[in-house]
Amino acid sequence: MNKTVAVLIDYSVLNTFFLRYPEHGCVRTQERLGQYTSLKCGGTADFFCDVSTYEGLQKIVSFCCTNGALLKVLGNGTDVLIKDGGVKGCVIRLTGKPFNALEQIDERRFRIGSRVLLSEILCRTANLGLSGMEAMSGIPASLGGALSLNAGAYGERIASLVESIEVMTLQGEIQQFAREQLEFQYRKGPFDNGEIILNAVLVFVPGERKKILRHALDVALLRDYKLPHGYSAGCIFKNPSDISAGALIEKTGLKGIEHYGARISPKHGNIIINENNAHSDRILDLIALMRSQVKDRQGVDLSLEIKIWE
Ligand SMILES: Cc1cc2nc3c(=O)[nH]c(=O)nc-3n(C[C@H](O)[C@H](O)[C@H](O)COP(=O)(O)OP(=O)(O)OC[C@H]3O[C@@H](n4cnc5c(N)ncnc54)[C@H](O)[C@@H]3O)c2cc1C
Repeated sequence: MNKTVAVLIDYSVLNTFFLRYPEHGCVRTQERLGQYTSLKCGGTADFFCDVSTYEGLQKIVSFCCTNGALLKVLGNGTDVLIKDGGVKGCVIRLTGKPFNALEQIDERRFRIGSRVLLSEILCRTANLGLSGMEAMSGIPASLGGALSLNAGAYGERIASLVESIEVMTLQGEIQQFAREQLEFQYRKGPFDNGEIILNAVLVFVPGERKKILRHALDVALLRDYKLPHGYSAGCIFKNPSDISAGALIEKTGLKGIEHYGARISPKHGNIIINENNAHSDRILDLIALMRSQVKDRQGVDLSLEIKIWE
């Protein structure tokens, strides 16, 4: 989102607001962020807030804009590596009711808050005999996180279900975008200016409930078989156009190596497991090694899929 700034920001105005009006959110200082991520490591945030309302969100956005403070939105934390030095700025989670709403508009369309997990959307729609989410069964994302980087699996991407998205801009304005206005790419969402996704309307296709549930279960079982268990952020690198990053890393012989509690999975070369309270720096060492070995041996420049926060 906005640039990191070296100056110390005084968050007392925000602290006072949220302590006085707790209905808008709950603030914490020096909150350890690893507990909210699937990699389970990294430092603290200068200012942390579980935001409950649009008004609370507007307050934070406007504060960050005025004071030049870095603002980061955490979804379900499954694609983020927090550096050991933490985040020099403000980290928020959208935890309140409006962000958790899953409202059926008509037979095929739902307005869904950004905090709702893909698993919940799949469960609700599949049980109603609505198809669309099956291939994404098992991706541990929130809708906001999935839309922000166009998550997907087995040939399906979340973008294909989108009718519209509502966001709050860094100026605190609420804006709505129709599908035609949104450009999604492989593992890249449509927003580049720090827009915060509030909710989206997704459209599903009627189908046979039993078949949909079977497909979702098959995908979940396949993922369970193919992917390693343990603390990870899924794939570290994006796949280059013609070959998987995992296959390139496997060819370097790095699969399975361990480094101070972090290990490149023996099962999947593009996944690092935090096995034993590894520091983020050690995970970053492995990422640098994977990248340099693939570059040296195969001449391919891998680009990161995960987000690194500091
Ligand atoms: C075991 C495992 C398996 C995985 N498998 C897959 C897979 O098959 N396919 C795949 O695509 N990914 C996969 N992932 C990665 C990850 O789940 C996805 O990238 C997911 O989209 C991240 O969603 P999140 O809610 O956890 O977002 P976070 O990790 O919390 O955030 C990711 C990015 O989204 C931004 N963001 C989050 N919420 C919002 C919001 N409301 N508004 C604006 N920006 C927001 C964050 O600022 C950050 O930049 C996997 C991860 C794990 C741990």
